[in-house]
Amino acid sequence: MATDVIYLDNNASTAPDPLVVDAMVDCLLRLYANPASVHQVGIQAGKAVEGAREKIASLLSCPPRAIVFTSGATEANGLAIRGLWTRTRESGRDAIVVGATEHPAVIETATSLIPFGARVLFAPVDTDGVVEIDALRHLVDNRTLLVSVMAANNETGTVAPLRSVINIAKAAGAYVHTDATQLIGRLPLDMTDLDVDLLSLSGHKMYGPKGIGVLAARRHVPLAPEIYGGGHERGLRSGTPNTPGIVGLGVAAELAVGRFHENSRIEQLRDHLHEGLARGLGGVSLNGHKTNRLPNTLNLRFSGADSDAVMTSLGRVACSTGSACSSAVPAPSHVLLAMGLDPEAAGECIRLSLSRTTTVEEIDSAIDEIVAAVAFVRGALG
Ligand code: PMP
Repeated sequence: MATDVIYLDNNASTAPDPLVVDAMVDCLLRLYANPASVHQVGIQAGKAVEGAREKIASLLSCPPRAIVFTSGATEANGLAIRGLWTRTRESGRDAIVVGATEHPAVIETATSLIPFGARVLFAPVDTDGVVEIDALRHLVDNRTLLVSVMAANNETGTVAPLRSVINIAKAAGAYVHTDATQLIGRLPLDMTDLDVDLLSLSGHKMYGPKGIGVLAARRHVPLAPEIYGGGHERGLRSGTPNTPGIVGLGVAAELAVGRFHENSRIEQLRDHLHEGLARGLGGVSLNGHKTNRLPNTLNLRFSGADSDAVMTSLGRVACSTGSACSSAVPAPSHVLLAMGLDPEAAGECIRLSLSRTTTVEEIDSAIDEIVAAVAFVRGALG
């Protein structure tokens, strides 16, 4: 990346840690054999895959057997929702309850099952983006197959009250899935303690590589594969394992365990950015929960400043107007709309997401640039 870029788009993708890259290069050069092969080089590659599985299981506090490697969180979400649905068609449970602010990989997968008889119910969120527990309680009953609520939102960073969500689901005998793509590696999560059945994550959101993810699926959860073939990954995801990706993700998981203490520094920098922007400009409001939020995420509305125009006026700051994954679609963010913003207000919001390597100098420069860009757009439009 050009060194003059101030990269504040880490919820869209993080740079892989240099130790991840080193491990992947070594793996590409040395462990090229098929990890399922029974000769010496294959066995070595297989050991590397199993070592990574153990590291990821340790980060999530789940048995290594629960870890199913996929191509990313999109595939993991699909396997969780469609895989469960396919194996439980005869159970009499036909409702899938999803949070209103879920990633499209969850919402679109759930709604793709409507023609096959699924009822998809959306759990509303409050103005901070927190799923409304009382409303959820009313939506969940003995016909609920699955409750899927994301651990942390990609646009606002709001962290879900997962324990309450899980209690409601379990009391009704439903399974629980959480799309934890944005939370894993940023905050600790203990799958066994929380009693989560299914959890998705993605390598490139946690300083690991792209094209690798995990569905952590506890043993008792019935799942049908989406991809058939040689029966890899407990028969749930066939295809020659992506050994370098898996090894890279394993290193990222191991590094994450030792780095949670850095959160307070990242959070302080993020709040410094917020304060600087609020001081330099009027009409700045926060989207997302003030405290129950990922330490790196800041989603702000700049009243009267169209966010696309602000983005075009920014020089070095790389950020996002919503979720990068859907920014090709010129529609207001469904997350911000669900939180009660009107479409015009939702079009005035910018997401700034920091990494563990973001510096105070970068944040100070970003403040100057964003203040100038917003003031320019307000002046031009005003
Ligand atoms: N879920 C969430 C919450 C995400 O932020 C993303 C990535 N934008 C995904 C799922 C999809 O992840 P991937 O790109 O690895 O498929």
